[in-house]
Amino acid sequence: MGLFTEELERRQPPKQRRRWLFVPYDQLSDGIGPLSRENPRGLGIVLVENPWKAARRPYHKQKLALILANLRHFALEQANRGVAVKHVVANAPYHAALEPLIQELGPMRTMVPAERELRTDLQVLVDKEGLTFIHHEGWLTSPEQFQASALKGPPWRMDSFYRYIRRDTGVLMSDNKPEGGKFSFDAENRLPWKGTPAPPDPPAFPRDPIKEEVGELIRKKFSHHPGRLDLDALPGTREDAEALWSWAKCECLPRFGPYEDAMSLKSRGLFHTRISALMNIHRLLPERAVSDALAMDLPLASKEGFIRQVLGWREFVNHVHGATDGFRNLPTNPLPTYPSPGDGGYRLWSGKSWESKRAPKNLDGGAGPNELGFETPLPPVYWGKKSGLTCLDHVVSTVWEDGHSHHITRLMILSNVATLLDVQPRELTDWFWIAYTDAYDWVVEPNVLGMGTFALGELLTTKPYVSGAAYINRMSDYCSECAFNPKTNCPITPLYWAFLARHEQKLRHNPRLSMPYVSLKKRSQGLREKDRAIFQTLRDALAAAQPVTPKNMP
Ligand SMILES: Cc1cc2nc3c(=O)[nH]c(=O)nc-3n(C[C@H](O)[C@H](O)[C@H](O)COP(=O)(O)OP(=O)(O)OC[C@H]3O[C@@H](n4cnc5c(N)ncnc54)[C@H](O)[C@@H]3O)c2cc1C
Ligand code: SF4
Repeated sequence: MGLFTEELERRQPPKQRRRWLFVPYDQLSDGIGPLSRENPRGLGIVLVENPWKAARRPYHKQKLALILANLRHFALEQANRGVAVKHVVANAPYHAALEPLIQELGPMRTMVPAERELRTDLQVLVDKEGLTFIHHEGWLTSPEQFQASALKGPPWRMDSFYRYIRRDTGVLMSDNKPEGGKFSFDAENRLPWKGTPAPPDPPAFPRDPIKEEVGELIRKKFSHHPGRLDLDALPGTREDAEALWSWAKCECLPRFGPYEDAMSLKSRGLFHTRISALMNIHRLLPERAVSDALAMDLPLASKEGFIRQVLGWREFVNHVHGATDGFRNLPTNPLPTYPSPGDGGYRLWSGKSWESKRAPKNLDGGAGPNELGFETPLPPVYWGKKSGLTCLDHVVSTVWEDGHSHHITRLMILSNVATLLDVQPRELTDWFWIAYTDAYDWVVEPNVLGMGTFALGELLTTKPYVSGAAYINRMSDYCSECAFNPKTNCPITPLYWAFLARHEQKLRHNPRLSMPYVSLKKRSQGLREKDRAIFQTLRDALAAAQPVTPKNMP
């Protein structure tokens, strides 16, 4: 018996009749749902640790540790409050794990899981009336508000949703008008960061015996998973979540806005809050993040910028996920799904396949939109092989070290380069899902398939988010440490032109791309041929895990 089991046993309240809740791995809060208002002494919770789920994809070690440490600490916290805790290790689908417990303890409730994978797994129990889905109180907005905001949609636009919600809730509004005279200060929030003001050091969290035991478990049972396990960077307790949020409020929010789009070798996170992983498992509640930020004395561009991320983007992507059933039912046509979960390029990188011995039967590999018909396999450089492109190599290495990187690195480096290489969108999505500690289907799919790769066409965004080296050079210091020169021989710029040329038929009528297509027209035939040659050389080199240099490019 391990330390956690002993501790839980020691804290269990007296046996008595209870109403039981199943608390999934991403609902670890007593600030919402029945745990927030019903007498703890009348409640019991079931928590499931599930290596079967962990084996589904080669998830980053830090992600596994984050879930296990928080789940275990949550179990102890609830037992301390007088809630009975049934903690089981399952190695099977969640419905199979819960069925005997429902027989033993009686019918259970659970807030509707955010993750579709879990919702579909549990549906069989809902059908048999052993489990009841109740409203998930962690969301700040409702599907009705989403529908009302998009009477003409789809396509759906975050801006319309956000403006509707601001008006409907009165957040950052005075006299029915947006504070500061406009709904978004995005245009002012695009400064590069030149070394000042000094960004905060990333937060560290104290180790404790529960985290140490989780670390031991990861090292023993999950050592074949990729990524660095860093217990000092692992928030696991309620106090850690509070400390992270205090750090974010004090060190990040006052400067959040202006440097939102900046990237740097000197600071991985700049003024980003790093709260997503904890917010997505509800150790930090979105409602708290929004209300605290609103109550703070912050520059309006920073306050509005942050509110737009949490009340706007985060809610919006979840609604799109819900409205399309994870993009399986698009309003226009149903999309094909992959037969089983993808490995995000793991096999190409490691030379062996990722095999879940207990391959789940009721689980597909997600929807497969592919607007531009991309078929390039994700190159092994996304798993840590060197490409020779400093921007890409730097961001990839931080992801495997931290299980995290901030928004612009995800969009304008990782997704940008993959899109310019025509990387298969589902494979890139699976990679993000595997590598990031904050990734779950409801959030990673809209972000990668919708924003990162344009795989969903104009369903969520007006154009592909692609750029050449000029943008990366303007918004980061990456180029200063690169063998390539962004103004002369950087391959990312010709890659951009080659992308526009390859997809001209589908993209040239897009009004937001009219300027780039005018410029492409002016590009000489010779340069266009060179663009194409650079695309092919780079794609082949990265597929073979061969770093490129100015000498081995056309
Ligand atoms: C290609 C791509 C993949 C992404 N995958 C994920 C993912 O798997 N999980 C995830 O939580 N976010 C994802 N995002 C959104 C965003 O990049 C992260 O939420 C953010 O970088 C998390 O870091 P942070 O907490 O420091 O965020 P901050 O910059 O401090 O922002 C505050 C919060 O706003 C929310 N937020 C901001 N933008 C988004 C968005 N587009 N979608 C949802 N929430 C948002 C997050 O909860 C975040 O914690 C992705 C974005 C892109 C472009
Ligand atoms: S020069 Fe090009 S490849 Fe190198 S860091 Fe800059 S944008 Fe990236």
